[in-house]
Amino acid sequence: MSSQTPSSPERGDFIREIVAADLREGRCETVVTRFPPEPNGYLHIGHAKSICLNFGIAREFGGRCHLRFDDTNPTKEEQEYIGAIEADIRWLGFDWGEHLYFASDYFEQLYEWAVHLIKAGKAYVDDLTADQIREYRGTFTEPGRDSPWRNRSADESLDLFARMRAGEFPNGARVLRARIDMASPNINLRDPVLYRILHAEHPRTGDAWCVYPTYDFAHGQSDAIEGVTHSICTLEFADHRPLYDWLIDNLPVPSRPHQYEFARLNLTHTVLSKRVLLRLVNGGYVRGWDDPRMPTLSGLRRRGFPAEGIRDLATMIGVAKAESVVEVEMLEHAVRDVLNRRAPRRFAVLDPLKMVLENYPEGQVEEMEVPNNPEDPFAGSRRVPFTRELWIERDDFMEEPVRKFFRLAPGREVRLRSAYFVTCREVVKDAAGRIVELRCTYDPATRGGDAPDGRRPKATLHWVSAAHAVPAEVRLYDYLFRSPHPGADGRDLFEDLNPDSETVLRGCLVEPSLADLPVGETVQFERLGYFCPGPDSAPGAPVFNRTLTLKDTWAKLQAQGRDDAA
Ligand code: ATP
Ligand code: MG
Repeated sequence: MSSQTPSSPERGDFIREIVAADLREGRCETVVTRFPPEPNGYLHIGHAKSICLNFGIAREFGGRCHLRFDDTNPTKEEQEYIGAIEADIRWLGFDWGEHLYFASDYFEQLYEWAVHLIKAGKAYVDDLTADQIREYRGTFTEPGRDSPWRNRSADESLDLFARMRAGEFPNGARVLRARIDMASPNINLRDPVLYRILHAEHPRTGDAWCVYPTYDFAHGQSDAIEGVTHSICTLEFADHRPLYDWLIDNLPVPSRPHQYEFARLNLTHTVLSKRVLLRLVNGGYVRGWDDPRMPTLSGLRRRGFPAEGIRDLATMIGVAKAESVVEVEMLEHAVRDVLNRRAPRRFAVLDPLKMVLENYPEGQVEEMEVPNNPEDPFAGSRRVPFTRELWIERDDFMEEPVRKFFRLAPGREVRLRSAYFVTCREVVKDAAGRIVELRCTYDPATRGGDAPDGRRPKATLHWVSAAHAVPAEVRLYDYLFRSPHPGADGRDLFEDLNPDSETVLRGCLVEPSLADLPVGETVQFERLGYFCPGPDSAPGAPVFNRTLTLKDTWAKLQAQGRDDAA
């Protein structure tokens, strides 16, 4: 596996190198990072990259990582998301201890600092409308123009800002802007908006405020209040860094954080945008934020992906400064790697075909000893009941076997895993010609799966006892988006939705031990893939979500790459 690892924490990435150097050279004593989600949706696997980075650095360098909700936009934020975000981070294996913060806790301090800027002549209240502000801002090629209000007196701005806070003006009537440079080549420095009027109920501060700080004004100052040393964010904020620094330079903040940017995670066949994910949920395209096809952490969890696999992906891809798109097969590979080691093997038949062993005593039940995981000698074994009537997989039988089909066919002998060799004697069909039953015989000398004479069938099948089988629903999942690059070439994203991303199978039959498997415990259905009982399960009536098939396409792609290179 490690040969496929482009970067590893041992080797370090550019951010870890910066942190190590800052500690070594005394620029900081303790590294403090933060993960700053906006509570306007569920966390997705892109956030997981940021969480692994921020919490990982804190852990590796003996520092701490804060969880800070960036709750500065009351119109889009909901309490529901806060609890879900906390649960997802814990599930991923990280903990913020007592360092849980909310940007809204700093509203009073931020307001005072805004006043400080006005008094210093570094901020002013602007009466232009949002459209006018945009128009005055200029473009990448043209400088901006000064607002006619840019040079109003500090006293007048102070008065207006106080009245904005007091609720005297409607939404959008005025804003507070930093006075920096309308001709700056960096548009973020063209007198950015620091405060806007929003008459909206805030989930935490209620109606205490009707002016709210922008992300740019809240973020760096919150970092400074908390003593964050390394404020790590994604590349789209690189152009905001001069503003981040300008504000820190011009305010009496208690510490001096630095911002660093890394490339966000992009995955093929996947959209990592809360806005789009929200549309998928609200439009009924999926079963909710935690639908097993969603790239949200709650979706991946429901799908049966172990947190360790997601952390391993973060390690495998490393942290870089250049945008790239990671193949989703790499995530699947990381997940399979964990599940192959950990997931207990079980028998489940998705498309059942009856098999009757004519020479097996009626009413007899044998408890077959079946290993739980051939990859893990400590996983032990379980007992699976074996009887005269069994279910096998319909596609494990062919009446007229094609070339290279080595499984069951008339007259042919195969092994039933951990049980006996069986030979097909007769095919029973219904009036419509559909095969409904196979009449077979078993060889009592092959108990446990080996023949005394050393003969070896070419195929080993899984099975369940008809008298003991538990009916189950099984949901097969495929990519939510057909295209590796959803919405590429100007297509509407939703045109790329895969109509077959979910297939529901009813009437599947599983071994008795699967009847009450706890929700979220991923097992391997032998020969079929990894499956995990979902929240729609009822006692004795499990609903399984397919986590992944067994076919590791990433390993194959890698092997092909190596062959090509050789
Ligand atoms: P989205 O783009 O999905 O709406 P966001 O950036 O608006 O996400 P935030 O809640 O602001 O969501 O994100 C919290 C943190 O997670 C930020 O520091 C952000 O940079 C980081 N983050 C978001 N998406 C990714 C991603 N795809 N890869 C890495 N980090 C990400
Ligand atoms: Mg954001």
